[in-house]
Amino acid sequence: MKNKIDAFLDLVKERNGNEPEFLQAVEEVAETVIPYIVSQKIYSGKNILLRMVEPERVLMFRVPWVDDSGEIVVNRGYRIQMNSAIGPYKGGLRFHPSVNLSILKFLAFEQVFKNALTTLPMGGGKGGSDFDPKGKSDDEIMRFCHAFMAELCRHIGPNTDIPAGDIGVGGREIGFLFGMYKKLRNEFTGVLTGKGMSWGGSLIRPEATGYGTVYFAQSMLETKTDTLNGKTVVVSGSGNVAQYACEKSTQLGAKVVTLSDSSGYIYDEEGIDADKLAFVMDLKNVKRGRINEYVERYPSAKFFSGETPWSVKCDVALPCATQNELNEEQAKTLLSNGCKVISEGANMPSTPEAVHAFQAAKILYAPGKASNAGGVATSGLEMSQNSLRINWTREEVDERLKNIMSDIHDSCIQFGKQDDGYIDYVKGANIAGFVKVADAMLAQGVV
Ligand code: NDP
Repeated sequence: MKNKIDAFLDLVKERNGNEPEFLQAVEEVAETVIPYIVSQKIYSGKNILLRMVEPERVLMFRVPWVDDSGEIVVNRGYRIQMNSAIGPYKGGLRFHPSVNLSILKFLAFEQVFKNALTTLPMGGGKGGSDFDPKGKSDDEIMRFCHAFMAELCRHIGPNTDIPAGDIGVGGREIGFLFGMYKKLRNEFTGVLTGKGMSWGGSLIRPEATGYGTVYFAQSMLETKTDTLNGKTVVVSGSGNVAQYACEKSTQLGAKVVTLSDSSGYIYDEEGIDADKLAFVMDLKNVKRGRINEYVERYPSAKFFSGETPWSVKCDVALPCATQNELNEEQAKTLLSNGCKVISEGANMPSTPEAVHAFQAAKILYAPGKASNAGGVATSGLEMSQNSLRINWTREEVDERLKNIMSDIHDSCIQFGKQDDGYIDYVKGANIAGFVKVADAMLAQGVV
């Protein structure tokens, strides 16, 4: 089996040698899915996984715009249309200086599996730009978003490709992008998700990824007849996903003691309660400030410059910042400090070595493609509401989100439960996602 996996990975490396994040994501899937493919006759000789690692389409384009000083700036825009076997391409846009083809291909590949897991009819895609929103004025953000959409609008549509937010793309950016799409195409459609409530958005969409990550942690704990109540939780990041992961954890009786950004982390031994979180939301979403300002407002908390929160003792860790933010050494520290649950809000935040450490310790470990699927699932619910031209209540959307997260958890058990009772959520999520997409591809022939 190892030879088969290595031969496959060699082929992928040959074609994508300078794309480390993409290769990392493919390797993680290949390790669990190839043995399954070999055990199932219907996939024999169909080269399904080889077809799945090749994007259906990669778009790369120039984004020229004018900054506040009158200077012309040129950024690079991307959209990866990875797989449309089970529905139109769906996946976020990331604006961050680190964005490149490798990062977006890894995200698009993960998205294909994640979207399949939600059970909603959505293919996988991802896009973005190396544009850095930090320190830009609202006008600069608007001009960049308009320039980005001026090209992207040719390639997307409510039945073709429906982007959403990701790092650096929140409600403000979705508004500017939607405005330009509407102007250029002269149509008001559900072409983006994460829209504002008065122009086609869904209640609970902003909360969905963070809430879903916590619902998933709760489902994992239930397999041990345990709950989040009374647990100490470490969260990384302080953006959209981290904020709502913090909120839901607190609502379920846990104590969240950390948040972070790329400059360091804050530790609040007393817990980040609803009032403190409201301060963080205003700081990050309105004032666009840095997390260290938390300790100016709450002096009993501490700020650790340039560090990650993984050395803090906890029961549950929710990595909600970015890829590869948690390495093997940090995983071992978490384990030796007694951490028993990892539910990933970010995409691929744990390095392969960290994942192997969690699996070897047989703790409850959920990969992002399962545990953070609540965001795209609720985007799917936003699309349904747009098509039906109705709005569901907060309670209705939250209930559907909870059910979807619980169904994803069940799918992971179906394909990931081992003989000794341990649930390998990585294996479960990969195979469950694969089966749905692969069966659709088989039915549609070689296209
Ligand atoms: P935001 O832009 O709202 O927040 C990102 C947070 O992560 C910020 O606190 C940011 O700090 C921090 N961060 C980013 N890059 C780094 C880095 N290199 N090192 C340390 N910290 C970093 O993004 P989201 O909350 O939307 O996304 C967070 C993660 O969740 C991403 O992996 C994303 O792909 C994933 N995700 C998001 C979904 C969504 O619905 N938004 C859906 C599913 C997954 P700073 O401000 O200093 O950059």
